[in-house]
Amino acid sequence: MPLSRRPTADNPLELFRLDGRVALVTGGSRGLGAVIGEALSWAGASVALTSRSASEVSAKADEIAAITGGRVLGLEADVSNEAAVGDTVTSTVEQLGGLDILVNNAGINVRGSIAELEREDFDRSLAVNLTGPWMMCRAAAPHLGSAGHGRVINISSTFGLVAAPNRTAYATSKGGIVQLTRALALEWAQEGITVNAIAPGPFLTEMNIPFQETEHAARVISQEVALQRWGKLHEIQGAVLFLASDASSYVTGSVLVVDGGWTAH
Ligand code: NAD
Repeated sequence: MPLSRRPTADNPLELFRLDGRVALVTGGSRGLGAVIGEALSWAGASVALTSRSASEVSAKADEIAAITGGRVLGLEADVSNEAAVGDTVTSTVEQLGGLDILVNNAGINVRGSIAELEREDFDRSLAVNLTGPWMMCRAAAPHLGSAGHGRVINISSTFGLVAAPNRTAYATSKGGIVQLTRALALEWAQEGITVNAIAPGPFLTEMNIPFQETEHAARVISQEVALQRWGKLHEIQGAVLFLASDASSYVTGSVLVVDGGWTAH
């Protein structure tokens, strides 16, 4: 049987290159969003990072650009604000020349039992973690499809697939984004846009540092995570580059779990 020939390159490693592509990463001022932006920049994409703090996101954009030598933009935007979402997409397209890759990463982790939470806590979780990505997808759609290799990557969570007590707000929002991913993958299958999700397990970002020393966290890491350690931030980058690039051209509507084996049992 002859070796299959790829349309863009014979060397499969070249499929991961993103030269000439433009990526937009929400919540890119720190944590997973920042290392996702850095990975996309290393691969050759021009990158726009968003965050609610203009100074923080600009500083992170400059830091990444200094490391990778790429073009990195910092934009202030709250993903739960529809006008800001539209402005972010417009600014990215105007300043970077298009939009090929959208990473919906911004998120908040609202914890508490249903008795403790206020209705506002639940609404806020859905607004940032679910409605925000939905609005970002809608605003980005006209640009994503234009070159035939549009990519949406939604950052869900293992709590989008399994659940735990005191996580109604977070788990509901992250489960919702899995279904948003599947529905949009089907809706856009003929539009030249793939839509996939990543479900990270425990990564030691600022979101989790306050819980690092708790008994619960120690038990989860030592007894439930097969690799028995927290994820290191850079360990999300391979999954993102795969789903952002031509390497994943036949992958859509999927959820890639990056959790050290937590949900394997
Ligand atoms: P983090 O708190 O370190 O960073 C979150 C980022 O989102 C920050 O840049 C913050 O400014 C931004 N953000 C929050 N609300 C926003 C809003 N309304 N508008 C715009 N930006 C906003 O968190 P992280 O750990 O890096 O998490 C990133 C994503 O990964 C989140 O969606 C989170 O739910 C998901 N996740 C994280 C873990 C983990 O273990 N860290 C596990 C599973 C899923």
